[in-house]
Amino acid sequence: MMKNPDESSFFSEHGCLTDSFGRIHDYLRISVTQSCNFRCAYCIPNTNPCPPPAGNSMSAAEIYEISKTFCALGIKKIRLTGGEPLLRKDFPELLDKLGALPVQLAVTTNGVLMDRFIDCFLKANLLSVNVSLDSLKPERFFEITGENFFNKVLSNIHLLLHHGFHVKVNTVLMSNMNKDEISDFIDLTLDYPVHVRFIEYMPFAGNNWDYWKVVGLNEILESIKRKYKVVKLDEPKNSTAKKFQVKGHKGTFAVISTVTKPFCSDCNRLRLTVDGKMRNCLFATMETDLLNALRQGKDIRPLIIAGLRDKKKERGGHTEMSALLNNRKMVEIGG
Ligand code: SAM
Ligand code: SF4
Repeated sequence: MMKNPDESSFFSEHGCLTDSFGRIHDYLRISVTQSCNFRCAYCIPNTNPCPPPAGNSMSAAEIYEISKTFCALGIKKIRLTGGEPLLRKDFPELLDKLGALPVQLAVTTNGVLMDRFIDCFLKANLLSVNVSLDSLKPERFFEITGENFFNKVLSNIHLLLHHGFHVKVNTVLMSNMNKDEISDFIDLTLDYPVHVRFIEYMPFAGNNWDYWKVVGLNEILESIKRKYKVVKLDEPKNSTAKKFQVKGHKGTFAVISTVTKPFCSDCNRLRLTVDGKMRNCLFATMETDLLNALRQGKDIRPLIIAGLRDKKKERGGHTEMSALLNNRKMVEIGG
């Protein structure tokens, strides 16, 4: 731990949070709840007990305080995720509070409650809304999520588009579940300006991951290129997604290849778990307890800086993906 906040001079000189590999960190993802109204097969499968509510979760005021400190250190974008963030009773209040910070706000949601929050999304001027949708077949949607809300989620995606939001559709592909729907998702981009992101299935505690279930970048691209004329798009620096567009389509598609082709060299992300612990990587094993320090009235800046300094070069220092099955659940870390 740093003894003196002034030791952060290296970082403040750079005006940002920079790790020992020179990577500037300006993006914070916060898990605001670990509760969820879905039981996605790759996240909290039905075979496992539902995670109980976190005993020590952050209040809206604490999320605001911690976020404010991150912003002062150079964070420019905050994404609220979970669990299902819209399940938080104080979600509008939270968004309102964070809206006062000099930061771009974004949300990742399963989409089912979105219509109730559209006004507060509009008020917060969200940068983007990511909606998870893993199947375009109602029966399969039920099979994957354990819930019958396919039509609701789809109509809420249309609602977002109607209001002019930048909508990304997150689709986790699993070889034993939905890889036959890749082209259906591509067809969705024909008439709608949605940005479909195929995500490689990642291992987390209790999520039944196995390498053979992963549908990798090459397989995804090959299957799309067999049917469509694909154009490579430029990616902004720090993008986790390799971006493409089918010629003539309004929307785009991308692949997030964490498993087969990690993109750590440009990583700009920090994470805050539902119980207020900073993680310098999705796959990190070390955490820095910011919430307890905040509650004890301590300055959390040196903790943040020291926590970032330990960041490993790639995938939290793991070479074997299966080691990540011991990682905390995705809903606690915030996907
Ligand atoms: N409940 C919200 C949702 O589903 O969008 C937000 C939380 S969820 C954990 C965030 C993202 O992580 C979702 O897009 C989800 O598909 C993705 N995700 C969850 N488990 C995953 C896994 N094992 N591998 C890859 N992506 C995963
Ligand atoms: Fe819930 Fe999102 Fe996990 Fe699905 S992916 S179980 S919606 S947190």
